[in-house]
Amino acid sequence: MTVEHTLSIIKPDAVAKNVIGKIYSRFETNGLKIVASRMAWLSEQEAGGFYVVHKERPFFKDLVQFMISGPVMIQVLEGENSIAKNRELMGATDPKKAEAGTIRADFAESIDANAVHGSDGPDTAKVEIAYFFPELSVFRGR
Ligand code: ADP
Ligand code: MG
Repeated sequence: MTVEHTLSIIKPDAVAKNVIGKIYSRFETNGLKIVASRMAWLSEQEAGGFYVVHKERPFFKDLVQFMISGPVMIQVLEGENSIAKNRELMGATDPKKAEAGTIRADFAESIDANAVHGSDGPDTAKVEIAYFFPELSVFRGR
């Protein structure tokens, strides 16, 4: 297996709930290392650009408004199989369908406010890391 990097975001609902540390602890106890991080209050343009793949979806406008409703914590996670591992720790997009013990089952309220983002594959991970950490070329796609 190869060491991968993936982009994770703790969304405004989870930051407001004061559970950044609890979510970081899930990453750390499951073999994912936080190798870059920054807190940001995204602009509409930044959030819209990040979710551009969902631009035509009916929930796009609400998603962007939610993502700019408060600060977010953005991090690069490193580890073997980190992209799939993080998705596993996150749980299903809809917290009601998320498996017990996952981040979304434990910390999220709804499909709109679902606590975390995680890249869904090697290509998106590469693009998303470069989007928020353009200075960290070392993490791009490796
Ligand atoms: P994931 O975050 O699990 O990768 P998607 O990439 O499909 O999920 O969607 C991006 C985000 O858009 C979701 O995390 C969620 O916040 C929002 N979203 C997805 N589907 C819906 C929906 N049907 N209604 C409202 N919001 C949604
Ligand atoms: Mg996604």
